[in-house]
Amino acid sequence: MTALELTGHSLIAGRTVAGTGASFHAIAPATGDELEPSYSQIDVDQLREATAAADEAFPSFSALAPEAHAAFLDSVADEIEKIRDAIVERAMQETGLPNARLNGEVGRTAGQLRMFAGVVRSGLFRGVRIDPAIPDRAPAPRVDIRQRKLPVGPVAVFGASNFPLAFSTAGGDTASALAAGCPVIFKAHSSHPGTSELVANAIARAVASHDLHPGVFSAIFGPGRTVGQALVTDPVIQAVGFTGSRSGGLSLVQAAQSRAVPIPVYAEMSSVNPVFILPGALDDGIEDLATAYVTSAVGSSGQLCTQPGTVFVPEGEKGDAFVAAVSTAIAASTGQTMLSPSIASAWRDGTATRDDHAEVTARGSDGSGPHAPAPVIHSASLEQFMSNEVLHEEIFGAASLIVRYRDVAELPAAAEHLEGQLTATLHLTDADAADAAALLPVLERKAGRILANGWPTGVEVGHAMVHGGPFPATSDPRTTSVGSLAIERFLRPVAYQNLPDALLPEPLKDANPWGVPRLIDGALEG
Ligand code: NAP
Repeated sequence: MTALELTGHSLIAGRTVAGTGASFHAIAPATGDELEPSYSQIDVDQLREATAAADEAFPSFSALAPEAHAAFLDSVADEIEKIRDAIVERAMQETGLPNARLNGEVGRTAGQLRMFAGVVRSGLFRGVRIDPAIPDRAPAPRVDIRQRKLPVGPVAVFGASNFPLAFSTAGGDTASALAAGCPVIFKAHSSHPGTSELVANAIARAVASHDLHPGVFSAIFGPGRTVGQALVTDPVIQAVGFTGSRSGGLSLVQAAQSRAVPIPVYAEMSSVNPVFILPGALDDGIEDLATAYVTSAVGSSGQLCTQPGTVFVPEGEKGDAFVAAVSTAIAASTGQTMLSPSIASAWRDGTATRDDHAEVTARGSDGSGPHAPAPVIHSASLEQFMSNEVLHEEIFGAASLIVRYRDVAELPAAAEHLEGQLTATLHLTDADAADAAALLPVLERKAGRILANGWPTGVEVGHAMVHGGPFPATSDPRTTSVGSLAIERFLRPVAYQNLPDALLPEPLKDANPWGVPRLIDGALEG
């Protein structure tokens, strides 16, 4: 079999496994046609083969020395890049996303894996802290205590529909779990199975070429409501990463909490990413600001978790000029194919409901194909927004709501009224500094990332990024699903008291053979 041949089956611990359940085809959203091959879905017994293999793989995988571990992550990136063209071609068919966007996503996926290889090499994530013994301390001697972080165990990852690469098979959840030393069982999204299979096979080739236990990675096709639920409740699984709908994420949180041994679910779900345009920001460059807003709101057909779904704009002449410029840009826009018929249908339902509760400010034109609806912007007053919960709901796709405020002093209360968010954005000049300072404490409580004079789409993958936030943005606001801090989700600290040096793990031995950064008595070593 070649690297590019699609089997239509799951990959369980390095083996192609035909599922015994019903089959399905990916649907090309641009045409509505079925794509070959058909995909067989596994049953719960077959799932157990994947979890048993992950359990078996955990001891050796979690104990890998840093260079071997990092080199494996680099190889996953290399294997994906070797078949870049095939991945992009299949992903274009399955998602309707354009070539440039998907090529960028391959680069981001590979870059993310290499960033985590760097994290593994640097060793900081091991969180080593050593409080040496003080035998002559009075009134009682201090014992020797050494701490490090360990991987939690096998992790289940649910791929997102809207990022078929960077939040999917080898995306941020998988990369951070593998970097932590956790085997991964990936539940593929049914809207891009071929893309998932190509990437899964690339990961399997890297596993084999490094002589790792094949249970380090499995990718399964199966219905979320049966096989996905069984995966999350399998006793082997120790944590879950998910990106998708609020209902799907919450259902997994409930399943994980009802286990005999509950486990954490890191679900990224729903956010409208409020943008506050403060009065000074409209002194100059209104047209440019309006164009940048429309680009951010309709790019990728608006199917981005950080899409600006609610924008607060002052009343008055300058605010009117901004809304007029937005209307012109939206009227000139054309719908792009959405990811799947069901997502397009959810968008149509959401915007139809909004039509009944807010004024339609501007609508673009339908694009070609059955699932490319015209982008739309609605407007409402701040009073309407504050009193109508329907206007707070996320509409996943190219729709956005402009909320007109009378006085900037109203904004902290408006922000207080919002649900938890991935991002909150301020557009301001120096003249707005005092108003922004009054808003900031509220935004810090509401959002995982606060931006100034930019747009929230285009999430940078790095060490300082937070892609998280209070519910319903995520199910756990203490962490992030993008950037190197994402590894923390899959680690737990263990302390070792008075163990002889020979018994201590490498990072805690006096000689520090792996050369990891360590806090000795609270100060960085060396
Ligand atoms: P989804 O329906 O939540 O599905 C995501 C994954 O979770 C799929 O693999 C699905 O498997 C599984 N799943 C869903 N419900 C489940 C359950 N109750 N138990 C176990 N597994 C379950 O998300 P989607 O298909 O990507 O998109 C649907 C809607 O989600 C969109 O219309 C949009 O509103 C929202 N969405 C939001 C974001 C965001 O970033 N804010 C991103 C993507 C989607 P099956 O397909 O096999 O059921």
